[in-house]
Amino acid sequence: MNNEKLKELADLMFPGITKTVEDYEKMYPERNLPEEARVTRFAPSPTGFVHMGSLLSAFEDYKAARDTNGIFYLRIEDTDGKRSIENGITGILNDLKNFDIVPMEGMIDEENSTGEYGPYIQSERQEIYHAFAKELVLRGLAYPCFCTAAELDEIREIQELNKERIGYYGSFAKCRSLSIDEAIDKIKAGAEFTVRLKSQGDFNKKIILHDEARGDIEFPENDLDIVLIKSTDKLPTYHFAHLVDDHLMRTTHVMRGEEWIASFPIHAELFKVFNFKLPKYVHLGIVMKIDETGTRRKLSKRKDKEASVEFYHKEGIPSYAVKLYLMTIANSNFEEWLDNNPSADLEEFKFDFKKISTSGSLFDVEKLLNISKNYLSRLTASEIYDNLLIWTKEFDNEFYEVLLNNKDYALQVFNIERGGVKPRKDYTSYKSIRNFVFYMFDDLFENPNYEFTKITDKKEIEIILNTYLDNYMDLSDKDTWFNKIKEMCDSLGYASNMKEYKKNPELFKGSVADVSGVLRIALTSLANTPDLYLIMTILGKEKIKERFEKCMNSL
Ligand code: GLU
Repeated sequence: MNNEKLKELADLMFPGITKTVEDYEKMYPERNLPEEARVTRFAPSPTGFVHMGSLLSAFEDYKAARDTNGIFYLRIEDTDGKRSIENGITGILNDLKNFDIVPMEGMIDEENSTGEYGPYIQSERQEIYHAFAKELVLRGLAYPCFCTAAELDEIREIQELNKERIGYYGSFAKCRSLSIDEAIDKIKAGAEFTVRLKSQGDFNKKIILHDEARGDIEFPENDLDIVLIKSTDKLPTYHFAHLVDDHLMRTTHVMRGEEWIASFPIHAELFKVFNFKLPKYVHLGIVMKIDETGTRRKLSKRKDKEASVEFYHKEGIPSYAVKLYLMTIANSNFEEWLDNNPSADLEEFKFDFKKISTSGSLFDVEKLLNISKNYLSRLTASEIYDNLLIWTKEFDNEFYEVLLNNKDYALQVFNIERGGVKPRKDYTSYKSIRNFVFYMFDDLFENPNYEFTKITDKKEIEIILNTYLDNYMDLSDKDTWFNKIKEMCDSLGYASNMKEYKKNPELFKGSVADVSGVLRIALTSLANTPDLYLIMTILGKEKIKERFEKCMNSL
């Protein structure tokens, strides 16, 4: 090969590029970490938000690194200008932060980063990509390609017509056989060009991807002369940026969507050409859902509201519960672990590549709500109060004011049937709490809709409520209180003993359950609530009286 000529060509293609691959190797040395420490990255485009699928992969990256005291970093892939928006990095960081996923290195806002392996945004790495591409040109392993879109279409049409493999390779790779002089002349004449790999691969030979989650997958070697650097903006393709960035940032585990599996032969060749150690690959499954028509399809950021992380924020689903749920999607053995360790911290669970569902996982909001319900049932009343205050401040001002002005009272309300081994499980989200407790607060109980069902006669309801008010206001002890209710039943012709009632229902107007029901509904408007005695003690005598009167007035 004519070294002088190649140098002339490389200098023409990459004017001003003086640093070499070796220089960069020195600038970004191997990380000083224990052998088992994983270095992972989340590499989104700066689109301003993460959706559930990308949150899941960021969380998996984070967890994989955390579990080994490794590094999880944020790299912004902005080589596709169409996907960038203003403040797109800040939005991503905020979404991650809502789930306590804070990168240990990489971009920290629109412009700045921490860490020794930057720049962490691809548009600022142009020089580095060019230095790598230039080295390939110097070694005769890359070349400028001048084919226009029309010429590429023509090649494809011929391949389709002859039923040949599609792509720019072998004898179809026109510019591969241009002489160096021809290439130099074209560039000097101002022709646009892309930079292509001169593939050394053989399609008839096999290579193997050792996927950490999927096991071994066999492929033909790559023989495509893929584009490394694009013509218009001179930015790298995904393939080339993956090589340069993940090598220089010393990524140990590339965890990415399964749509990249098919590109592995290209990546294997690129790493081989530079004699770089191949990172470990983990290809993650797609997050699916069953839609209204019963069809299983990919969870869509456009169509599915539950795909946006904003949805969980608005619904008041605790971010920790979302993470617990994401881990059930991430690792098939997590749910069992959670059942066995209901109050253990997620940090204690070790994420396992082998337990990744590779066939795609179903996103199930019901299951998420159930996890959220279990989680909320284990918080203390004051944790509920504090978190609810934050949520209502943003989304329910009326409730926020009520909570703010009645802290001690609210704590008693949230403490109803909380604690102990079998806490009450009713709240599914912060948003849902109001519906479970509104009746405890006068300000939220202005126009109740009383749901009387069993005993509906106005007169009878009045008799029960008045009898209670006249004789049975003593709340000092639950047993005494309940005995009095039973006494009241006997005096009014209701069965105080359920067994007797079931034997001879015709002897009674109804049962103690129906009478308690009237008291419950008059107090709360609802037929189902937690323990009536607890509710009464928290409301207190005065309020009970007011509530009963309010109810009778509304009948
Ligand atoms: N920017 C790429 C994507 O969002 C990153 C893929 C990867 O993690 O390598 O698909």
